[in-house]
Amino acid sequence: MLDFNPVDLIIAKRDGYALAPDDLRSLVEAYTQGSVPDYQMSAFLMAAYLRGLNERETLALTEQMLYSGIVLDLSHLPGIKVDKHSTGGVGDKVSLLLAPIVAACGVPVPMISGRGLSHTGGTLDKLEAIPGFRTDLSIDAYRHQLETLGVVMIGQTDEIAPADRMLYALRDVTGTVEFIPFIAASIMSKKLAAGIDALVLDVKCGRGAFMKTEEEARKLAETLVGLGEKFGKKTVAWITDMDAPLGYCIGNWPETAEAIRCLKGARVSDLMKVTYVLAGEMLSLGGVAESTIDGIRRAKEAVTSGKAFERFVQLVEAQGGDPTFLDNPEQREGAPPVDLVRAPDEAHGYVADLDPLQLGRVAAAMGAGRLRKGDAVDPTAGITLNKKPGDTVEAGEVLAWLHTRMTDDLPFFQQAVVQAFTYSDTPPVPALLLHDRYADGQWANQ
Ligand code: URA
Repeated sequence: MLDFNPVDLIIAKRDGYALAPDDLRSLVEAYTQGSVPDYQMSAFLMAAYLRGLNERETLALTEQMLYSGIVLDLSHLPGIKVDKHSTGGVGDKVSLLLAPIVAACGVPVPMISGRGLSHTGGTLDKLEAIPGFRTDLSIDAYRHQLETLGVVMIGQTDEIAPADRMLYALRDVTGTVEFIPFIAASIMSKKLAAGIDALVLDVKCGRGAFMKTEEEARKLAETLVGLGEKFGKKTVAWITDMDAPLGYCIGNWPETAEAIRCLKGARVSDLMKVTYVLAGEMLSLGGVAESTIDGIRRAKEAVTSGKAFERFVQLVEAQGGDPTFLDNPEQREGAPPVDLVRAPDEAHGYVADLDPLQLGRVAAAMGAGRLRKGDAVDPTAGITLNKKPGDTVEAGEVLAWLHTRMTDDLPFFQQAVVQAFTYSDTPPVPALLLHDRYADGQWANQ
């Protein structure tokens, strides 16, 4: 039985009032328990999105989401447990690389991730693109795997951060994703529930991110780190560039396949630069490396020695995935036909710019994302780029390959991908990939 009226809270927020922390907690609790329906929660989410949530409300939301399930205590396990989370980008498969790399270097990684949100991909959907891979382990299995393998990757469950699981899916289809308090509460509730000691955050900034400007990204980083420290976790944030897709592949299996190739040593420079910096941070926080630089060196060694890939294979096997799919990711069984996108007649010189938002939306429309809550994604749908900013280009050259079963819409997808590219006579100035670092209340570059 509710002892408050959700409509009163929706109206109060719609009219711009701050809610008492207990009221906000009650609303989230009632939604998680099923006594507030999706339509009322959707109205509340939109009201909050438009009117804002203050610091106290953001903290109350995070706490309620965190305590909506079990908060794991992993202190009996040896080692400093470190996780990483990205605020969401296009082509961002860094978590798939980081977890096995960092575990192979001796730091335990208990990772709780999310599904695709809006035009961005999600680690859970990418892992589940490996046939058989299960991201819904029981708490006992989660603990056991962390203890025996040093790495485990799951999603929010009925037991861990269930409020985030429900709100995340609702935000995805109600236009309420790009809002700092929701993003911060969503990320920190599941990360804090996972039993971590420290956390590295990759705050994406640019057209393909939820934070389009540096100013917004800084605010999100400060909010996330502030929440982490309030809960006694050492938290470091990097702002990294999302004005072009990361790597060459967009979509669940295409991204998993690219991560597999990189774990086997392929050099995809932007992707590996971000991966190694974040790995360096995690290894330093985990007490295995003397500094971030030392951590970067160790992470590179884990890849070149094959230990990181070996750990990934063990992770896939431990979570029920079919490891034969890792042998030759290009030849995946059940993949849809591939079509080409060629550079138009006006293409010349260099690729000047490539809009990640446009590509993320096209990939989602091709089957990689969701339109409605609970929709299944096509694990194999997506885009493989042949050209990125700074590459030379001529009319007729292949810009990208499209993987989709929605062949009736191919002309539309092809045109939309062509529109994501612009050209110039001279090489564009390379984007600054690593914008800034925030830790201990300080920005490195300010
Ligand atoms: N990642 C999350 O876990 N939640 C968000 O809201 C955005 C990115």
